[in-house]
Amino acid sequence: MISVRDIHKSYGQLEVIKGVSFDVTPGEVVCVIGPSGSGKSTILRCLNGLETYQKGEVRIDGQLIDPSARSIIALRQRVSMVFQRFNLFPHRTALENVMEGPVYVKGMERKAARDLAAMYLEKVGLGDKMQNFPDNLSGGQQQRVAIARALAMEPEAILFDEPTSALDPELVGDVLGVMRQVAEEGMTMVVVTHEMGFAREVADRVLFLEGGTIVEEGTAQEVLRNPKELRTQDFLHRVL
Ligand code: ATP
Ligand code: MG
Repeated sequence: MISVRDIHKSYGQLEVIKGVSFDVTPGEVVCVIGPSGSGKSTILRCLNGLETYQKGEVRIDGQLIDPSARSIIALRQRVSMVFQRFNLFPHRTALENVMEGPVYVKGMERKAARDLAAMYLEKVGLGDKMQNFPDNLSGGQQQRVAIARALAMEPEAILFDEPTSALDPELVGDVLGVMRQVAEEGMTMVVVTHEMGFAREVADRVLFLEGGTIVEEGTAQEVLRNPKELRTQDFLHRVL
């Protein structure tokens, strides 16, 4: 479904992605792990057309993505992203935040969009908070609104960039629970995370990125329990 081939990306002289290739098949959950600065966010942004690159290609269902083209708007309807900071509109309720995409991007009627948004807010466990403004929601609740907002676009895949790393520890579990549920329902997901428990239990495949290259990839069992590469072993020793 998502095919990444030999991506190279530099900021000025600094090459931060040095030939990354991988595939994500429909319904698959791929977790990306690796040290700070290894290029995890950058590669995710390349998948969503948020970033240009000097070499390589990204295809979604065979269709070549050109990050400079107008078609990028269409791409973002098909591949949603959930960020570390939730980026909700502060002056809109949870419900309005989730309705926004379907109404303004997809041109859905407000009534239909409201029903859809309510359904997804129920799904993430916020049926009783729909009229709250972001300020009156906990960080974990705000992140669940952001996930509902991504789901309401009914995308083919969702990219998550460290969705729980800005949260107080006691709020992390609820968000991971919602992500797990979304995964179980068959959503195609690429998840950059430091939550090794989540990766172990939910990921079909794990990529370990360091210095802009994929050092090791395999099932969660292979990469997290029996890493072959010394660099993967070192990283896991430091984070576990
Ligand atoms: P973290 O775990 O800290 O989020 P990361 O693996 O997501 O790290 P990236 O954000 O992808 O890392 O950054 C990869 C490299 O690219 C880093 O060396 C970073 O300093 C550099 N970088 C990222 N964005 C820019 C930018 N806009 N301009 C210049 N350098 C950048
Ligand atoms: Mg990052």
